[in-house]
Amino acid sequence: MKCPDCGHDNKSSSKLCKKCGKDLTLPPAWFPDTKWHLKTLSVIYLILIIGFFAASHFLHKVPPPYDQRIIAPEMTPWLYPHKKVQP
Ligand SMILES: [Zn+2]
Repeated sequence: MKCPDCGHDNKSSSKLCKKCGKDLTLPPAWFPDTKWHLKTLSVIYLILIIGFFAASHFLHKVPPPYDQRIIAPEMTPWLYPHKKVQP
């Protein structure tokens, strides 16, 4: 049995690694591999892209609130700093 830490080849019946002393009876820990990362990231990006287009689609159906308001320039002089307001 190969030690997962140092790679030393031990007897299959041994419970501890002869070289580093690691417990060989423990099951190896699960680590995500490249395939898992690709799958998870593709699902996350797919959800984000679909969510973006869905939100964009529904926001285009909502009437724009600010385009319909006409506020007199006398009330908002900071929006027109170069325009002289007639008294
Ligand atoms: Zn070892």
